[in-house]
Amino acid sequence: MPELPEVETIRRELAPEISHRRIRSVRIHHDDLVLGPGSPAEFAAAVAGRRLGEPARRAKYLLFPLHDASRAADPAECLIRIQLRMSGRFWLGSEPPDPSEFRHPGIDLELDDGRTLYYDDVRRLGGFEVLSTDAWEEIERRLGPEPLEPGFTGARLAEILGGRRAPIKNVLLDQRSVAGVGNIYASEALFRARIDPRRPAGSLSRAEVGRLHRAIRAVLRAALRGSGTTVRSYRAVNGRSGSFQNELRVYAREGEPCRVCRRPIERLVQAGRSTFLCPGCQRGPWSA
Ligand SMILES: [Zn+2]
Repeated sequence: MPELPEVETIRRELAPEISHRRIRSVRIHHDDLVLGPGSPAEFAAAVAGRRLGEPARRAKYLLFPLHDASRAADPAECLIRIQLRMSGRFWLGSEPPDPSEFRHPGIDLELDDGRTLYYDDVRRLGGFEVLSTDAWEEIERRLGPEPLEPGFTGARLAEILGGRRAPIKNVLLDQRSVAGVGNIYASEALFRARIDPRRPAGSLSRAEVGRLHRAIRAVLRAALRGSGTTVRSYRAVNGRSGSFQNELRVYAREGEPCRVCRRPIERLVQAGRSTFLCPGCQRGPWSA
């Protein structure tokens, strides 16, 4: 599932291509890809004819601001919130993508430069939703800090974790704690900080919180440099794979030797999600 580095990679690739383009028309191949209370016809009517602002990202959401076509300088009144979930992908071109690569057309946005932005989603868990700026701000307020922004300091992380009894891994996955971190980067950051993912979040020492803060930022930055992690279906725009899967130290490496201490990586299930850890490097007084 795309996390901050994957969604940000897509945003960076799309931004110079689609910003300020007018959407000529919308084709919806599957109605269930239109999320929210509005009908697919309402979605199409709200989007067609609008001008796109510069794509943005918050947490794991990709945001396309929508402007009045004739008054592009005005602030956006609404936006498209896109959730890629498990298998959402984009293709941008003047010809439809090769059906061997993109077999599950979802939503097409036809642009005024002759190209079309194709969204493909085999599992159809993601989708598009039009939100008013006010509705989005309401959602946005409930999200935790962006971990690569200057406001995300070690002190801020200490405040977020303080007093929490839930396992640190589960707290990191909660988008209200730290936005954009999911299963891959929570596992990787905890390994790099040498913290057992089962530890109660509030039990971390000051030094451990400092290590975790640095590890979260370092792993997200490294993944961004690698255009994200392709372990299953994630692709950047036009089918390109990420490369950070080659640098994973624990995620999806069950049974393989730890790159630091050679002990086999273990997998356990926390809150229904796989967690990968090294029983040597992440041992602590709270370990089972
Ligand atoms: Zn190890």
